[in-house]
Amino acid sequence: MQFLKHKDEMRLAKWMTENPATVDSNAMLADGVRLMAVRNIGALLVVNGDVLAGIFTERDLLKVLASDAADVLEQPLSSFMTANPICAKVDDDYNDVYMKMKANNIRHIPILDGGRPVGIVSIRDLTNIYQNKLESDFQGARKQLEKLRKLLGESDANRVLTLLQEIERYRELSLTDELTGLFNKRYFMARLKEEIMRARRYKQRLSLIFCDIDHFKRINDTYGHSVGDVVLMEIGGILVGQKDELNVISRLRKSDIVARYGGEEFVVILPETDKSGACLAAEKMRSEIEEHLFQIKDCEIKLTMSFGVAELCLESDDFKELISHADEAMYLAKSSGRNCVKVYPGR
Ligand code: GH3
Ligand code: MG
Ligand code: MG
Repeated sequence: MQFLKHKDEMRLAKWMTENPATVDSNAMLADGVRLMAVRNIGALLVVNGDVLAGIFTERDLLKVLASDAADVLEQPLSSFMTANPICAKVDDDYNDVYMKMKANNIRHIPILDGGRPVGIVSIRDLTNIYQNKLESDFQGARKQLEKLRKLLGESDANRVLTLLQEIERYRELSLTDELTGLFNKRYFMARLKEEIMRARRYKQRLSLIFCDIDHFKRINDTYGHSVGDVVLMEIGGILVGQKDELNVISRLRKSDIVARYGGEEFVVILPETDKSGACLAAEKMRSEIEEHLFQIKDCEIKLTMSFGVAELCLESDDFKELISHADEAMYLAKSSGRNCVKVYPGR
């Protein structure tokens, strides 16, 4: 029973909008735009009977508005839609779909059941799942605030409370690291807990890579903090495998989650991967960073990173232990001369 419940939680079907707004592929653009305005929605599915022909979104509408064709509203909607859009299935896992949408930079995705369109999900719906999870993390903090209120007296405590709420809203509810565009630590923590739960339930392996730039302080000291920031962005791109797309070599799987843990530290969650698989991935990242030439002002510089790998012990580890094991392995890499991969509990 518990198994089924969990499986159901992860299904996209639970989070999609059922009976999405749909128009026939013969409809005029004006009909579609009217429907979007009346229902206050960002996307319409375009169908031929039972079959999905395309999707028409706010972005397509912007393209229409930018065109100078006459009587544009009287033209068929189908000539402005995105034909054969990327779709998902009702049984898909919402995390996979979220990653797919992020990777392809799409905001709305039609959901199919046996080939028939039955729903739609927006990236905002999926982001909200994590925001709700994060929300529950704050409940502990709120209890502390209540204590503070009693200690400080009402008016000072309210000022502190308002300030903290602002900070929560702006910093914590965001899932993306502003500088690198990777996932941030908040998302990483929520996702790691979820992946550990899943690994336990399905008895699958799970590994974690911790990485830290070697002697990064020297970059800041020599070239300035803003150059350091550019280097961090570039490293984020290499870790996530942007270069791979050009080289058509894939070292990370689509399901691997790369996040900025803080400062110049990055983490990678590798579901369904044992420590030897994770070491191979880390070794590949290590050598890519080592070979990369960073263009800084008029110079080209080289950098290295140290990597620590740990595999989840299904019986005993929780997320804190897994993180501390990967961190420990990373420090072993530092003390072994840096620019290397070490695995917990040491080799
Ligand atoms: P080690 O090889 O032992 O890791 O040496 P390190 O110099 O990389 O390590 P240390 O922890 O001493 O310094 C990390 C530096 O990272 C300190 C800080 O200035 C820099 N840093 C952290 N976050 C940022 C950031 O967002 N931008 C920039 N430019 N630098 C950052
Ligand atoms: Mg560090
Ligand atoms: Mg460092």
